Amino acid sequence: MDLQTKALHSGYQKDGARTMAVPIYQSTAYEFRDVEHAANLFALKELGYIYTRLNNPTTDVFEKRFAELEGGEAAIATSSGMSAIFFAIANAAEAGDNIVCAKQLYGGSLTQTAHTLKRFGIESRFFDVHKPEEIEALVDDKTKVIFFESLTNPSIDVADIEAITAIANKHGILTVVDNTVATPVLCRPFEFGADISVHSASKYTTGQGLAIGGIMVERKGLLEKLKGNPRYAHFNEPDASYHGLVYVDVPLPPYTLRARLSLLRDIGAVSSPFNSWLFIQGIETFALRMREHSSNALQLAEYLESHPKVLKVNYPGLKSNSNYANAQKYFDNGASSGLLSFEVSSLEEATKIVNATELYSLVVNIGDSKSIITHPASTTHQQLTQEELNACGVPAGLIRISCGLESIKDLIADIKQALEA
Ligand SMILES: *Cc1c(COP(=O)(O)O)cnc(C)c1O
Repeated sequence: MDLQTKALHSGYQKDGARTMAVPIYQSTAYEFRDVEHAANLFALKELGYIYTRLNNPTTDVFEKRFAELEGGEAAIATSSGMSAIFFAIANAAEAGDNIVCAKQLYGGSLTQTAHTLKRFGIESRFFDVHKPEEIEALVDDKTKVIFFESLTNPSIDVADIEAITAIANKHGILTVVDNTVATPVLCRPFEFGADISVHSASKYTTGQGLAIGGIMVERKGLLEKLKGNPRYAHFNEPDASYHGLVYVDVPLPPYTLRARLSLLRDIGAVSSPFNSWLFIQGIETFALRMREHSSNALQLAEYLESHPKVLKVNYPGLKSNSNYANAQKYFDNGASSGLLSFEVSSLEEATKIVNATELYSLVVNIGDSKSIITHPASTTHQQLTQEELNACGVPAGLIRISCGLESIKDLIADIKQALEA
């Protein structure tokens, strides 16, 4: 089945009322038939619903549908993209372990890995996403995860997924790919050797800026990589917190199972049924939207590249971009999503342009159907000096756009009047 068909049907079996729309099961808990039924559910002898912190029928549809789109085996929905990333890492690493991360990460992922996980005793080591060969010198027998973004936010680089996963597989290490910006519509990291993907559902999945959420997906056949692998002893040894369960001995996708039984149970950052329902609505038009976001962004990038006031345009779909070859290789038809940035001569010039746009909203978000404009030097990167800004690839005159679904004619006309104001 094609992705667009799965996006409309996967994971939903109509219930008694045969509703066309997936129902919102707004319930904290579920009645057991009797004591034996309850005991069987807890012992995993029978699968079913227990308590919405662990599972929920609406969230179930979202998880199954998203896993299908990504080409994975199972998924677990979380309350935000950040919690999905935390679960993906904490499911593999503990105090005394390390993880190897790309330097080019979302700001929250950088602070989570470099600072918050450090306080949990997990060390993060960083490599340049353009130089996967740096990974080799960073891994050791305590390395539990290699973490990177397929299409990076905010630097807009495209990872060489196969080069990274090849090194990871040589060492039997799990790879976690943040596929938020590329989305399963454009890129399916499991086809290129990745093990686990994570997403902020707050971006293109909801698609209209409606809700915060996240999801972690596990590839098919991950069991073989975990079974007997000395790096992942906690999947192979009895879990004292779940009366001696050995995750690799249960015929269920092990990474998602452990994340649900242990992390969701104890940390609790779960998707609410209503938010899961919103994400299901978003998914119905996922493929249509991503095609349009990508086409609009490419046309806008081409226009900006032709404008005399613009020094440089960063968009992987442009032939002039250093990520072009990777975008062609890893993204369907080279379609490169909606994120682009461009540089003008100065901070003053950039400020003037951002203030003069009318259609683009000044917002710190991406992946909305409405176009968004940001000026990193005066907002997210405000505390940095001129030299520091240049060093991290954020010149003072850099403007970032998350290209929405407005008519491209109107988007170009508005940026033109702002550039020439
Ligand atoms: C927004 C974002 C996140 C964080 O997701 P939240 O849902 O805001 O917690 C993680 N990774 C990427 C690439 C993002 O863009």
